[in-house]
Amino acid sequence: MTLNEIENLARDVFQANGCDHSNTEALVRAIVSAERDCSMSHGLFRVPGYITSLRSGKVSGDARPVVKAATPAIIAVDGDNGYAPLALELGLPRLASAAKELGIAAMTIANTYHFAALWPETEALAEQGLVGLACVCHLPVVAPAGGSEALFGTNPISFAWPRPGRTPMVFDMATSSMAQGEVQIAARDGHEVPIGTGLSADGEATTDPKKVLEGVLLPFGGYKGSAIAMMVELLAAGIVGDNFSYEAAENDNGDGGPARGGEFILAISPERLAGVGWADHCEDFFKRYMSIDGTRLPGARRHKIRSMGDTRHVNAALVEEIKSLLD
Ligand code: NDP
Repeated sequence: MTLNEIENLARDVFQANGCDHSNTEALVRAIVSAERDCSMSHGLFRVPGYITSLRSGKVSGDARPVVKAATPAIIAVDGDNGYAPLALELGLPRLASAAKELGIAAMTIANTYHFAALWPETEALAEQGLVGLACVCHLPVVAPAGGSEALFGTNPISFAWPRPGRTPMVFDMATSSMAQGEVQIAARDGHEVPIGTGLSADGEATTDPKKVLEGVLLPFGGYKGSAIAMMVELLAAGIVGDNFSYEAAENDNGDGGPARGGEFILAISPERLAGVGWADHCEDFFKRYMSIDGTRLPGARRHKIRSMGDTRHVNAALVEEIKSLLD
């Protein structure tokens, strides 16, 4: 499909399911940017889940997020029970201007449903010369190190670094060994997943993605990844004042769509903290990094895909499923 066709399909299905103009357009931008960069597990793949929760009435299609400055350095967004993209689009400009003025600012987004990748928000900050860090927690599907019972979400964390005149360095990764959407896609397409991805319902290591989905995922990197997943819970739920992953499950209606949760975003101005010369200093670091054979910068693959024409491969059964949601 062309990106234009993807955009039209997404717009039609959100409008047909009760989303107003502002929410539709913010959702469409999130989906098209994911498909454009081949973030396949967070583009059209998420549409059936988005629609499920609009239809069940769990998520408002006409949410009006409210942005307030709790202090000059703390931007607090109440998502009004809607999907995250509109709350983000309204909050990010306020966060960026606070960070530019004060050197550092944080934004909490509460009462919203995040079902997308995180790089759009951190990359948007980096494109304005700011360092961005964002994280969310979700439903409990990941066992803490040593356990076989789910407590953490897949708890992604994204970090973007501005490179004036160049594309930012951006990483965006689940703190589970594999993002749940990737495990779902492997199950759908009949592929195995690497050992260490998760445990079956009886606590055994397995390469079968269907068994992992019935059991638990594991954090990346053993106890170290487990500690980072815990940090994400504490920032995205403890600091934001919204659901921990286990609370998200307890408070969810089980419709299969995303659960309510918070997002924590930090923005830092290197210009303000490090002063003149920060960019050249850091470019020297990147040069040294890339001089090592076999390396590449995080985000570079995605940015390369972005510039490759406007046609993307989309799963045909998924397109039919989305079309069936137009009625
Ligand atoms: P990946 O493991 O695919 O990639 C993680 C990061 O590592 C990317 O930034 C990637 O850059 C970078 N990377 C990969 N290979 C290399 C390499 N060889 N050298 C340098 N950098 C590399 O991501 P995940 O599967 O963990 O996560 C996928 C998405 O799922 C994320 O966007 C995340 O936000 C989203 N997610 C959302 C959730 C939600 O609740 N909203 C929950 C969980 C995940 P590049 O892209 O350039 O390859």
